[in-house]
Parts: sequence; C-alpha cells; structure tokens
Amino acid sequence: MNGKDYIVKAVAEEAQVRIWLADTTNLTREAKGRHGASGLSAAVLGKVLTAAVMMASDLKTPEGILTIKVDGNGAAGMVVATADNQGRVRGFITNPAAEGGRAETEAARTGEIVGTAGILEVYKDLGLKQPFSSRVELVNGEIDEDLIYYLKVSEQIEASVTLEVLLDRDMEIMAAGGIIAQSLPRGRPEVFQAVEKNLTRLRELKMNFYKNSGHEILEELTRGLDFEILSVLEAEFKCDCYRERLLGIIGGMSREEINYSFKDKDEIEVLCNFCNTKYYFTKGQIKAYSSSQH
Ligand SMILES: [Zn+2]
Repeated sequence: MNGKDYIVKAVAEEAQVRIWLADTTNLTREAKGRHGASGLSAAVLGKVLTAAVMMASDLKTPEGILTIKVDGNGAAGMVVATADNQGRVRGFITNPAAEGGRAETEAARTGEIVGTAGILEVYKDLGLKQPFSSRVELVNGEIDEDLIYYLKVSEQIEASVTLEVLLDRDMEIMAAGGIIAQSLPRGRPEVFQAVEKNLTRLRELKMNFYKNSGHEILEELTRGLDFEILSVLEAEFKCDCYRERLLGIIGGMSREEINYSFKDKDEIEVLCNFCNTKYYFTKGQIKAYSSSQH
C-alpha cells in the first residue's frame, strides 16, 4: 500500500505460530532506482531484501547484522542483502540489467534469472561470539521456496514463506512484501497447518500488498485463530557507508598501493556496492587522514 514500509511481528493462537509480515514497497523501489535494475532483477533483489529485513528484526543485539546471499547459475549473478534489527536493509545484485525472456507482469517469477543451481547462504553476526553461517542448495530460485528449505534444513524450523514483488506493465514496482510463518516448538501441528491453509487461500484470493493493507492480510492469514501483534517496526533501505568510513579503509592502504591507485589521476573513485554511491578522494585527503591517525 502507500506510506512507509514496515514489519509486523505477531503470534497466532497463544504463540503457537510466529508471524512476520512486511510491506517493503518503498525500499524495493529505492533499491531498483539506486542500482538501475530491470524489473525482474529488482524483483529478485526486493525478495532477498524483504527476507533479510524480516529475519534480522529478530536479532538480539542492535549492532548485529544478518546477511542473505543467493548465488545461482542464472543471469542475475549474486544477490546480497544485509539488515539489522531496526528495520534497516541494504543490498545489491551483481547484474542489475538481467532480464527474463518473457515480459513479466504482476507477481514476478524470479527463478528464470536466479537459476536453479546454486546456494542460499545466511550469515549472522551479533558482534559478540563467532559469526554464524549456514547454506543450502537452491530449490528453484524463487527465493520463497529456497528460504523454506533453508529454515527446514539449517534451523530445523517448519515455516511458510511468501515473498512477492508486483510489477506493472512498465516493469516498475507496484508493491513488494513478504510473510514468514513459523511453527514454534510447543505449537500444535494443526495450528501451523491452519495458517498454511490460510496462506494458500490468501493466494487464491490474490490478496497482495498493492490491493490490501497489512492488517487485512494478517487477518486473513490468521482466519479462525486468535492473533496478537507484538510489534511494528518501520523498515527502510539504508546503507551504513559514509565518506569517513571509506576514507578509513583507503587510509589503511600502503604508500605503494596509494601511489598505484593515483597513477595518471588526481582523484580516485570508490564505489559502495550496496547503495551504488560513489565517493571521490584526492591523494591529499588520504594523506591528511593517514597522518591524523598517527
Ligand atoms: Zn553504501
């Protein structure tokens, strides 16, 4: 719908099933614009961003990050999204120009450009102990089913996942969003099955984030069950790069590396892959930074 992007966390039937629901229309549009992505490439990126921002909302520490990497054998190349537990997410796709063979409108099918062979990897860094990472083979490159498989194999969680990016005739983003429903350890299987059935019905009714509000979708998803909203979090595309941070990285280069980079030019360009922002630095700025650090 309109307005700001958000993630709703809820539970159904006295916490037997956990639900994340996110409207990520704006952040997917922003990612598309920043990377100059084709409709279908933006759809893949949007799906991975949506999954990452929902899953990261559960991280225990504010400095923690969760990254999802999808690396298939299709034209899209690698797709990476990184998010924190405050609804901030950023990401990129190696080949934003990748397009499908047929004009794709409405709910984008992404397997065609992701490929069906490859991996989905989830990396969690809580800023404390060892980072955690786990990967599975792709199922079909649609991301939803790949993530269901990941949750089942790597985290032993029975889950239903829907990630949807709707495209109009001009291949612009009409809406993007996602749902993850997860059976909790003490949950009765029937309750999770009821949510799964509702999710199927939701698809049959063609309910989506373009036509329906998050609340309508949540009500349909929990039809026949009690539900409780635990929290609502705003979500946005936000990169954590900034000039001084990159200067810090370049400032760590050796004199030889710096001289080589500036061969035949007065300034160098540094690109942040995640948000496609270019930064320019002169040799003088780098030297001044380096000497200020000693
Ligand atoms: Zn950036």
